[in-house]
Amino acid sequence: CGIVGYVGGQSALDVVVAGLKRLEYRGYDSAGVAVLSDGGLAAAKRAGKLVNLEKELGERPLPGGAVGIGHTRWATHGGPTDANAHPHLDNAGRVAVVHNGIIENFAALREELAGRGHDLTSETDTEVVAHLLAEEFSSTGDLAESMRLVCRRLDGAFTLVAVHADQPDTVVGARRNSPLVVGVGEGENFLASDVSAFIAHTRSAVELGQDQVVELTRDGVTVTGFDGTPADVRAYHVDWDASA
Ligand code: GLU
Repeated sequence: CGIVGYVGGQSALDVVVAGLKRLEYRGYDSAGVAVLSDGGLAAAKRAGKLVNLEKELGERPLPGGAVGIGHTRWATHGGPTDANAHPHLDNAGRVAVVHNGIIENFAALREELAGRGHDLTSETDTEVVAHLLAEEFSSTGDLAESMRLVCRRLDGAFTLVAVHADQPDTVVGARRNSPLVVGVGEGENFLASDVSAFIAHTRSAVELGQDQVVELTRDGVTVTGFDGTPADVRAYHVDWDASA
C-alpha cells in the first residue's frame, strides 16, 4: 500500500519510519522495515498499526544504517499476519523487497522456485520476487540488472523496492501499473509511492515511468527501461502543500 526507500547520511530507519507515518492516511494492515548495515541486512515487521512495529523496534532495535526500505501493507494474497507483512527476504537473508500491487503469475513462479529448492515461508504473491532477485544477483552481482531481469518475468501491477546486503550503497525500485516517485536530495535520495513520504526532506522529484527501473545511491539516480535502455531523469518541483 505505502512504500518508502532511503539512502543517505541520516539514520535510514528514522527517515523510513517517518515516511511510513506520512503514508498512514492510505490505510494498511501491517508494516515493516529493512536496513543495511555493516555488511548485513536486518528487518522487522508486524501486523497491525505502525505503533506495533515501533514497539517491536523498541524491544529489539535494528542496527543503524544509511540504507533502508519500509512498507505498509494492504493484504491481497495471504492474511494480515507478521509472516505475510513486508519486507520479504530470500532464504539467505541477503535481499529484502517491498511491494505494492499484485503479481498475477506468482503461483507458477512459486512452484518453479520450490522446484529449485527455495523455501517460501509466506502466503503472499510478493515473496517470489525476493527469491528471484537473489538468484539473478548471484549471477549478475548487480541489483538493478537483477531487478530488470525479474520484472520481465512478472505479470500484473507492481511497485517494487529492494536492497541487497552485497550492494550496500544502493536502493533499487521498479514499477508497472503502480506509482513510484524519486525524491532527489543532496547526498541523499528517496523513493516512495507518494511524494508526501519525503516532502519534509526535498521538493525535487522524479516520476518513474511505466516499466522502468531506478537505481539510487547517495549521489546518483539512474533510470532504465526493463530492457536496460537508459531513460531521461527529469526532476520537477513539488509545490504541493505539505500540511495537506
Ligand atoms: N499483494 C501484496 C500482498 O498482499 C502487496 C499488497 C499491497 O499493495 O500492500 O502482500
